[in-house]
Amino acid sequence: MEKKRKIDSECRTFKDKWNFQYFVIESSNKALCLICNETIAVLKEYNIKRHYESKHLQNYSKYTGSLRTEQFEALKRGLKSQQSLFTKANTEQESATRASFRVALEIAKRGKPFTDGEMIKECFIAVAEEICPKKVNLFKSVSLSESTVARRVQDIAENLSSQLSDKNGHHELFSLALDEFPARNT
Ligand SMILES: [Zn+2]
Repeated sequence: MEKKRKIDSECRTFKDKWNFQYFVIESSNKALCLICNETIAVLKEYNIKRHYESKHLQNYSKYTGSLRTEQFEALKRGLKSQQSLFTKANTEQESATRASFRVALEIAKRGKPFTDGEMIKECFIAVAEEICPKKVNLFKSVSLSESTVARRVQDIAENLSSQLSDKNGHHELFSLALDEFPARNT
C-alpha cells in the first residue's frame, strides 16, 4: 500500500524535461499546453505525450536543439502577456462594480433619489474626459442606472441586516447601523 502510493505520487510529479519535450508547463498541479492552452489534468507522461503527439507533433517536431528552447520561451512569454491582460480586465471590472456600490451608498446616505446615479455618472464622465481622457471608457463602464442603484442599495441593506442578525440574533440593532445609512424620510 505504502509502496504503491509512492510510485503513484512519483508518476504525478511534473518533470522539467517535459517543458521542451512537449511544450507544457506546470500550472496548479496540472500540465498546461503552451501551444493550445489546453490543460492536461493528469500529470502523467503518457497523457502529456499523447496530447503532444496527437495535436502538435506535426508542426513542432521541426524545432530541435536551441530552436526548441527558443520556441518554448516565446510561447511562455505569450502566455504571460495574455494572462496579465486577462487579470487587468478582471480588476478593471471589479473596480467598476465597487465604484458603483460606493456611489449607491453615497446616494442612499443622503436620501437622494436613485435616479441621481445617472446624473452623477455624467458628471464624472465629464471630469474624466477633461482629466484622463484615455480612461473614459472605464468610467463609462460604471453602472449607475436607477435600477442598478436600487439593487445595490438593497444588497447593502440586506448585507448589513444579515451581519447584524448573525451577531446578535435580532434586528433591533439594525437601526444603529442606519445612522451610517439614514432612511430617506429623516
Ligand atoms: Zn496542446
